[in-house]
Amino acid sequence: MLKAPLPLGSTIGILGDGQLGRMLSQAASRLGFKVVTFGPDVGSPAAQVSLASKVAAYTDEAVLERLAESCDVITFEFENVPAASLDFLSGTGAVVAPSSKALRITQDRILEKDFARNAGVGTVDYFPIDSVEDLGNAISEQGSGFESALLKTRREGYDGKGQIWIRKGDDIEKAYASLGHRPAILESRASFTREISVVAARGWNGEVGTFPIGENHHVGGILSTTLAPAQVSEAVTAAAHEIARKVLEGLDYVGVLAVELFVLPGDKLLLNEIAPRVHNSGHWTQDGCLCDQFEQHIRAVTGWPLGDTSARCTVEMTNLLGPDILEWPTLAAEPKSRLYVYGKDQPRPGRKMGHINRIKA
Ligand code: AMP
Repeated sequence: MLKAPLPLGSTIGILGDGQLGRMLSQAASRLGFKVVTFGPDVGSPAAQVSLASKVAAYTDEAVLERLAESCDVITFEFENVPAASLDFLSGTGAVVAPSSKALRITQDRILEKDFARNAGVGTVDYFPIDSVEDLGNAISEQGSGFESALLKTRREGYDGKGQIWIRKGDDIEKAYASLGHRPAILESRASFTREISVVAARGWNGEVGTFPIGENHHVGGILSTTLAPAQVSEAVTAAAHEIARKVLEGLDYVGVLAVELFVLPGDKLLLNEIAPRVHNSGHWTQDGCLCDQFEQHIRAVTGWPLGDTSARCTVEMTNLLGPDILEWPTLAAEPKSRLYVYGKDQPRPGRKMGHINRIKA
């Protein structure tokens, strides 16, 4: 726990070395902090822009210990870092935020939904699945009106990976086998009209700051665009912010997180998932808000006052996936836009290579 803001020039450790770590590092350096990144890849997007980088497995305790020695606070940008590694770091006396408790809950779709419901936040109906029998029973429980449901792995799914739709009459053995017989969750289908997300932060002193709402469009399970501030009613904005506050307080969270929500007809909101980190749907804040999500996370974990999250314009963020990045000469020439490139060398299909923020109004 930090009782006072970290002084200028302090060092922040970041577990995870992708584009989120890169943009966190850039934001940290603007405020005069030094950053040491920790991840498995040499020359990673985050390492390219940081003072130092440690290249090791997330479970390598000797290197984790050296990270702890060189940092004043340690955070993460990747939700599949083992929670035990955070416990190990805390055990060395390091200050770690967000906590391993928040990470453990949000790493597991069942624990996450149980947590949400206990915190008074609605979710779709869901069933833990550990066998084909469980799957059959969960489908029978939904009665003769059953049309479809989404089977997801409990852990480690992202960007639509580790998920399969099950429709009436489908071969459920085949469906469960396609997820490798891993522990799973069956979710009822949310008949949403829109998908929105709220990015929000909480400091060590309990101060909460919420960003304007983003409206998200996915293609093939991967976020394609975010338009923000979204054109939603004040009531939806207030309800989404209230959900974010409940989640932050319920997890005793320090740092930035994102809550993905389904908007149902009648503007009812259901929680889809919580990302315990800065989030792709918050990239618009780099050009749309006075303080962006990356700076906000750095402020939160270092005990600095949270920044002003007011919107200064409407932004459409578009992800540049795989070969989209090869269009950079055209993108770079676009007026009223800003291009962000992550420094990855292989533009494989679907890989997040960069994004562009287009100012809309
Ligand atoms: P997730 O990885 O859980 O965020 O899911 C990726 C995308 O799949 C979401 O953004 C939705 O578009 C869709 N999706 C996930 N869960 C459900 C659900 N229970 N009902 C309907 N669509 C869903």
